[in-house]
Amino acid sequence: MNSLLLTGGRVIDPANRFDAVANLLVIDGKISAVGKDAAAGAPKEIERFNVKGKIVCPGLIDLHVHLREPGQTAKENLATGTAAAARGGFTSVVCMPNTSPTIDNAGTVALIHEHAAREGLVNVFVAGAITKNIAGEELAPIGSLKRAGVVAITDDGHCVQNNELMRRACEYAKMFDLPVMDHCQDYSLVTDGMMHEGYWSTVLGLRGWPAAGEEMIVARNILLAGLTGARVHCQHLSAAGSVQLLREAKKRGVPISGEACPHHFTLTDAAVAGSEKFWGNDGKILAKFQNGELPEWPAYDTNFKMNPPLRSARDREAILEGLADGTIEILCSDHAPHCDYEKEVEFDYAPFGVTGLETELALALMQLVHAKRISLPDLIAKFTVNPARLLNLERGTLSIGADADVTVFDPDREWVFRVEESASKSKNSPFFGWKLKGKAVATIVCGKKVFVEQPELAAA
Ligand SMILES: [Zn+2]
Repeated sequence: MNSLLLTGGRVIDPANRFDAVANLLVIDGKISAVGKDAAAGAPKEIERFNVKGKIVCPGLIDLHVHLREPGQTAKENLATGTAAAARGGFTSVVCMPNTSPTIDNAGTVALIHEHAAREGLVNVFVAGAITKNIAGEELAPIGSLKRAGVVAITDDGHCVQNNELMRRACEYAKMFDLPVMDHCQDYSLVTDGMMHEGYWSTVLGLRGWPAAGEEMIVARNILLAGLTGARVHCQHLSAAGSVQLLREAKKRGVPISGEACPHHFTLTDAAVAGSEKFWGNDGKILAKFQNGELPEWPAYDTNFKMNPPLRSARDREAILEGLADGTIEILCSDHAPHCDYEKEVEFDYAPFGVTGLETELALALMQLVHAKRISLPDLIAKFTVNPARLLNLERGTLSIGADADVTVFDPDREWVFRVEESASKSKNSPFFGWKLKGKAVATIVCGKKVFVEQPELAAA
């Protein structure tokens, strides 16, 4: 049961600095052996897969996912959200607490754990709220959330504006050794901005969401991390100034970290003006992946509306540089499903957010590895050991005895992301019709294959 042998793949395990063509043996859901000789100890009847030419790595972890349970299951649920994760190569996800009701108490955490055990295809970890009902007014019971098993606290979707309250949250979080994850948005600066404040917001006549609205809170978080010693993690960074602040603070040893999402380091605000403007301006380099057939979309397409918004080419470059020099250690999707009827409205009225679990590995490979900005082991670290360390998870490695969460992917496989093939309940991705490079071919959770791309992974 839950035993298998993967032969001939390039095994990359950044946590153990391992990178070699090797076999990987899984027995009863645990990593049993990794190396040239790993096949020798395999039982005769074990299921064998030839993964020659593929990358074998620790199961990918996405620490920023909206699974929409409880209460918003028209958008997504634990079954569909984790199916999308499995297709994307993810063996663990962390679900955000801005649900209905919010995940701000132990009972709701228990409910999700129970549903996830029954319906989840991959491991589901829970982030609890910082404040009751994510209202930003009164702290949630952080100790009882920790006892219920949350791996972090965040008011994601919202941002605690009161600095004193945020300070207290950091103090409690430190006491309970939980990271505080923050959606960085200063409400007084951003007001009801809906796209990056710059050239294109002026051209399109849409209210601007200035980069300073993010940078202000990143700076606040650096100060509070320094003051309290709590580990503060800045979510979905989009602005050049945020990267600079983080870089400088990390040099001083402040316990601060950051994450980036593929839409922010692939697209720019020009995309809100339509495909022609994007490919003609900021999309020229990416266009060559498309082999001449450029995906098209109109101006004001709400699948390009997210929070924080797509920013300028300069900001995109700064995020890529931050990922390359290690300032930003973690990659994630901010997978944010919304129903068609919610997104098919004027730009002003559409909710923020896009799906991302099924495209993030490919886009990260394209923009970081194929673009020769970082190595494959560095990319894998940002999806495995780095998020695991932040969240104190005993995952993200192929160490002997660890739970056998394993991802097998082909970094060079070209494919088109088609709406009918998406496992998510919602279809609000800006990347449908895009030709992508790099794809998960097998996702294994505790030794069990939860996604296999046939016939890519042929039994040997
Ligand atoms: Zn957010």
